[in-house]
Amino acid sequence: MKRFVYADNAATTKISDAVLDSMLPYLKEHYGNPSSIYSIGRDAKIAVENARKQVAEALGCEPREIFFTSGGSEADNWAIKGAAYAQKAKGKTHIITTNFEHHAVLHAVQALEKEGFDVTYLSVDEKGLISPSQVADAIRDDTALVTIMYANNEIGTILPIAEIGKICREKKVLFHTDAVQAVGHVAIDVKEQNIDLLSLSAHKLHGPKGVGALYCRKGVVIRNLIDGGAQERGKRASTENVAGIVGLATAITESTEHLEENAKKMAAMRDRLIGHILKIDRTRLNGDREKRLPGNANFSFEGVEGESLLLMLDLSGVCASSGSACTSGSLDPSHVLLAIGLPHEVAHGSLRLSVSEYNTDEDIEYICSIIDGIIERLRAMSPLWERIVKEGKES
Ligand SMILES: *Cc1c(COP(=O)(O)O)cnc(C)c1O
Repeated sequence: MKRFVYADNAATTKISDAVLDSMLPYLKEHYGNPSSIYSIGRDAKIAVENARKQVAEALGCEPREIFFTSGGSEADNWAIKGAAYAQKAKGKTHIITTNFEHHAVLHAVQALEKEGFDVTYLSVDEKGLISPSQVADAIRDDTALVTIMYANNEIGTILPIAEIGKICREKKVLFHTDAVQAVGHVAIDVKEQNIDLLSLSAHKLHGPKGVGALYCRKGVVIRNLIDGGAQERGKRASTENVAGIVGLATAITESTEHLEENAKKMAAMRDRLIGHILKIDRTRLNGDREKRLPGNANFSFEGVEGESLLLMLDLSGVCASSGSACTSGSLDPSHVLLAIGLPHEVAHGSLRLSVSEYNTDEDIEYICSIIDGIIERLRAMSPLWERIVKEGKES
């Protein structure tokens, strides 16, 4: 029987009931501007400051180190451009990143490159990992910033953030991490892990879209990205998205409080998917088997075209995602899959299934019950598969 299964939680997540309930008063009766002096303005201000405390608590920092933004992309752009411009004033114009970052990071550093910054792109290995020594070796006297993601959004690998943070702190280089996929799913402590700047987004952890935060360690100077009013202590202008900020705080508190049990539940579902799908002939798991987000399963099927696979899954009620990134109208496979060394045609046949704690064992059973047949049908129509089988027999 057909069933609706949402398995694209790395793209966005369903808003939780508690999150929605916490937001509604700020969309209705508490509509005041936090900068106003009358009571409904003050109430809104108090809500924003309470939210700041909640986010700080989840990351192990002080409330004054949290700045609300319009999402993960803004937090990434602000951290990277803000730090780069501030460091340039000290003559430091070298940036270190990896070749498999989210576009919010990659395109931000590419924009800086056009302005004369020098960027080192560290290559990830075939599992999507980099070693702390790669970072240590790349640091120079003029290095302004190291920006390396906490966990990859496509293949789910979790990078050695604490080790990288330690190296950067020892070498006195600023360290930013895009933790959009990690917050709420992996235990984070910015102080222990020596993180200077960290980006997060509400809609990846059952919060609303269009709101996120940047943690900026006390004493770290970054230039403003958005000038205007005195909001966020003069560092990020614009009237606060009060309901969104309250929703973010509820979401981050909810997910960090239940982190272990949710991660365990998600990892069990993920592992069932991996166990089942890897039994399909000529299929590989992308990303590291162990150092992996609890909700992420990413596969490549030889002789299958990712877009067709997504359409077939959609017809069966399953929402998933592929690495062939045709959303951009581009035929190039994802830079992440190419970065881990997949040949173009294999990268084209990729599937990301990302589960959340709202998925059930029945959802997983359903996916397992339809996937073999779909792959079989697609391969039966594929000239590429025909060639693979023929060559396989000959060799
Ligand atoms: C989703 C995502 C972003 C962008 O966050 P938005 O809030 O959608 O702007 C950035 N980095 C990673 C790793 C992401 O998964």
